[in-house]
Amino acid sequence: MVIFPVRCFTCGSVIGDKWEYFVNEVKKGRSMKEVLDELGIKRYCCRRMFISHVDLIDELVRYSRKV
Ligand SMILES: [Zn+2]
Repeated sequence: MVIFPVRCFTCGSVIGDKWEYFVNEVKKGRSMKEVLDELGIKRYCCRRMFISHVDLIDELVRYSRKV
């Protein structure tokens, strides 16, 4: 599992508790933008934290969809 930071590096807001939900929703096929909006992640710096981490698990997501 990819380690996700507890806080945004730029603004320091807590994002770690939202990561698991975010990943699960994205794996279901929802768009990242939609899930971030739902979670109330408005700042670009925080959104970037999620989106850049998803790139790392992208392979994993693809794999789980195949199965
Ligand atoms: Zn931030």
